[in-house]
Amino acid sequence: MAKRNPTARKNPQAAKYTEPGCAYCPPSVRACRDGDEDRRGPGFCPAKTDADGIAEGLAHYEDPFWRRVAVESARVEAEGYCKWTRVEEIVEFARKMGFTKLGIASCISFVDHANTLSRIFESHGLDVVSAACKTGGVPKEEIGLRDDEKIRPGGHESLCNSVGQAELLNRAGCQLNVVLGLCVGHDSQFFKFSEGLATTLIAKDRVLAHNPIGALALADSYYSRVWGPDRPEKPPKLPSQGRKG
Ligand code: SF4
Ligand code: SF4
Repeated sequence: MAKRNPTARKNPQAAKYTEPGCAYCPPSVRACRDGDEDRRGPGFCPAKTDADGIAEGLAHYEDPFWRRVAVESARVEAEGYCKWTRVEEIVEFARKMGFTKLGIASCISFVDHANTLSRIFESHGLDVVSAACKTGGVPKEEIGLRDDEKIRPGGHESLCNSVGQAELLNRAGCQLNVVLGLCVGHDSQFFKFSEGLATTLIAKDRVLAHNPIGALALADSYYSRVWGPDRPEKPPKLPSQGRKG
């Protein structure tokens, strides 16, 4: 149930917001960077709409494991800032966490990249287990897809078995799993079922050479087709809860 916005009495405008809307925070505000959102944050700032949610999130860092993940990621971020590639950051994060066994969950089309990555990890003294998405060779029909729903109907098409990938890496005791080019949804399943921590090295985007930010960077030019029919003429300045009408 949506909670009442605690700032509502002081600022009637803020009463509109019960959910956070950071995506609409102006560049000149973004006060959380300086820990000043109570004073300068807009009405839709989570510090104002759901301070309890922030407190609940913070409570999870009391768990020593999650505190360590947060601390070591922050150290990797600071030490390698604009120096280390993401591959190097993963190696360094694993080292700082004391992980010795890494998993690679790749798309079948990324097995060559998985091979390079596996050898890089091994060259840093890490133990590596890898599983491709077609693992098990399970026909798509087995989960209820019809023949005409396949990419190429009429023949065998193996299911993208990301739950199976997670299971294999779990059974091997992988402490950190790296996703290489799993499709949307398949990657979601992998993240849900992976028992080890999981991170993405490559986000699949067949059109943009696996560089999905291109669709956002060029949303007002070459990739304007990404917009839906409800795009307003003028970009709104406020999240939907705060708009008139
Ligand atoms: S709304 Fe608040 S938390 Fe979100 S970006 Fe702005 S200042 Fe930061
Ligand atoms: S379903 Fe996705 S992840 Fe699986 S083989 Fe096809 S492209 Fe690769």
